[in-house]
Amino acid sequence: MRAYPTHIDFRANVQRVPPHIPVSVRKATSRFLGTRQAVVNVLGDEQWQRLRQAAHELRLHTLQHLDSYLVQLEQQVTAAGGVMHWARDAAEARQIVLELARARGVHRAVKVKSMATEEIGLNHALQENGIEVWETDLGEFIIQLAGVGPSHIIVPAVHLTKEEIAELFTQKLGVNAPADPLKLCAIARTHLRQAFLSADMGISGANFLVAESGTLVIVTNEGNGRMCTTLPPLHVAVVGIDKVVPDFESLSILLKLLPRSATGQKMSAYTSFITGPRRTAQEGGPQEFHLILLDNGRTRILQDAHTRKTLLCIRCGVCLNVCPVYNHVGGHAYGFAYSGPIGAILSTQLLGVRTAADLPFASSLCGACAEYCPVKIPIPEILLHLRHRALEGDRIENAVMSPAIRAGVQAGTLAFRLPWLYEWGTQILRYLQTPFRRDGWLPHLPPPINRWTMVRPLPAFGADFRAWFRERTPQGRAREQRRRANIILGVLGAVSIIALALLRRKK
Ligand code: SF4
Repeated sequence: MRAYPTHIDFRANVQRVPPHIPVSVRKATSRFLGTRQAVVNVLGDEQWQRLRQAAHELRLHTLQHLDSYLVQLEQQVTAAGGVMHWARDAAEARQIVLELARARGVHRAVKVKSMATEEIGLNHALQENGIEVWETDLGEFIIQLAGVGPSHIIVPAVHLTKEEIAELFTQKLGVNAPADPLKLCAIARTHLRQAFLSADMGISGANFLVAESGTLVIVTNEGNGRMCTTLPPLHVAVVGIDKVVPDFESLSILLKLLPRSATGQKMSAYTSFITGPRRTAQEGGPQEFHLILLDNGRTRILQDAHTRKTLLCIRCGVCLNVCPVYNHVGGHAYGFAYSGPIGAILSTQLLGVRTAADLPFASSLCGACAEYCPVKIPIPEILLHLRHRALEGDRIENAVMSPAIRAGVQAGTLAFRLPWLYEWGTQILRYLQTPFRRDGWLPHLPPPINRWTMVRPLPAFGADFRAWFRERTPQGRAREQRRRANIILGVLGAVSIIALALLRRKK
């Protein structure tokens, strides 16, 4: 169970990625991308682009009027018999859940998959306080047994093979588990059924919160969400303030985009709408419903016009599926609940650049994430802005890059501006690299420039493109003749000046 991170070292995490991860991850992500493309094709590209644009505008509008929608939400949740709590940060949210649990003598809790509770490290806090907690989404259940965090927003155990899961079940549940997905599901179901029936508290997140009715919307494929939110007498939901939508009409647009982008389904198997606790003793459902609205840095993200669109995210996970970096390293390298491109921009802002400065640099900036994002978040632009924040600082945070790296970047910028400096610099670098050069590669460079070679060797500086250009083209040859003439004139001029100076001194 992962505690709240204080520093994320992406490069060190990448070095710990097992070699089979890229194969397992790519197998799953390419399957999701294939099914997504099929359902998008059915709608037609024009209709799909119209939906994306409508969702983008709707989410922006909601963020611009977030204050009034949150107030409306609170009124509606209270009117439906629920209780609203406001949590400024992760510690406050954990504290509210613990107080609710303690006051009701909770010993066991069941959870439906929730990124917000992953974000605040809730399981860790509950277990430290003697409360048994069971994840009930199959993927979350598996990674809970494995003792690790999710490696994908919607498929948390994407990095594990069925053989590894069978071994895990055999070790942790004391059963003879075969590497057969159906039998593994049956084992998990038997185990979790007892947990559902004996739990004192159900914990959930939400995909959306409808302001006009105070309704919590949970989209799942396994049905565990309904068990968690209806069987225990107490239901506590922890949800980010960015999950609010104005009304059911707006919701219908997002519900068209989310399952198609996430799993390539027209609709998820279960879409649950929960408005308050049960009204009468005869009804099913929990006796109490508490909604904890989590800020945890979101209002700070809202303050910056350059990065605000991060909060448009509906957590579909398609940006992970198309990202070449994510497909190569998997989710654990990102060191926090959110991974892939959305993790690189969201975690950096939630945790701050002091903790997560590596993440905005964990991208090739190829732009595939922005092209696929159903709500059109300009992820590469936000990544660039966060890189600038880490290097130079801005009104939100101070710079965190080491002076040596900053000096290197500034020297590089100057060299790219001045062609003569660039040319001389590359000539000098060719000589400086000699002690580190092995068969055309630089496998190990000394600190502080060793951060690249910690992960992979750097190709040695080889052919000089300018020399190549000069030799092969008429313009190059003419330029070279001019350059040589200038050098000769320069040398003659310098010799004349020195000779004149010497003559004067003799006189
Ligand atoms: S950033 Fe876009 S693509 Fe990525 S998870 Fe969020 S909504 Fe989906």
